[in-house]
Formats: sequence, C-alpha cells, structure tokens
Amino acid sequence: MSAVSPPLTDPLHARRCVRHVEREAAARCPDCGEFFCRECVVEHHGRLLCSACLQRITVAKERRRERWAAVTRSAANVAGMAALWLAFYWVGAVLVKMPPEFHDGSVWKKLVERTE
Ligand SMILES: [Zn+2]
Ligand SMILES: [Zn+2]
Repeated sequence: MSAVSPPLTDPLHARRCVRHVEREAAARCPDCGEFFCRECVVEHHGRLLCSACLQRITVAKERRRERWAAVTRSAANVAGMAALWLAFYWVGAVLVKMPPEFHDGSVWKKLVERTE
C-alpha cells in the first residue's frame, strides 16, 4: 500500500475536509480513506462515503446493470431469431402439407384464369 502523504502544510492532527479546508472533518470515507465534512459525505448502505466514491460505486452498479441489459437484449435477439426460425419452419411445414398443385403453379394458373 502506498498511501499518498498529505502536504506538509496540513498537520495530521487537524483533520479537515479535503475539499473544504476551513471545515473540520466529520467523517472518514472508508473507501478512499480521506476525511470529509458533513456536507461532503453521503450515507450509502449504512456507510458514510464521499461523493466521489459513491459515484464510483453507483457507476459500477450502472455498468453491471448495462451489461445485464445487454445480456437480456442478446437473449431477446436469440429468442427473436428462434421465433423467426420457428415461423419459417412453420411456413415450410405448411408448404409441404399443401397440395401438389399449389407447388407446380397450377393453383396460381387457376387463380389467374379466374381473374382474367
Ligand atoms: Zn471516498
Ligand atoms: Zn467538505
């Protein structure tokens, strides 16, 4: 672990918010280990995190959700393709079951003759 040492002008005993030097630190972020004032920390699942760490956590969660959405989207694509394939298969099956005159074109000839 290589902790970044605070600037020498900042005495260690006077814990101040890293963002608001004039304010006393109220909490220490358990994630980055920095001290923050009341305004700079946000409670997140019972822990007081700084906004940067909170954002990092929520972004990570968001990415996970996006990845999951991509997974469900591709699953939907596969399902859609399967449905399409089934539809074609069904059309094929229907075509096979159709009377032979439908295939040799006589059905269409009859239809054309009727319309003419
Ligand atoms: Zn933090
Ligand atoms: Zn602050």
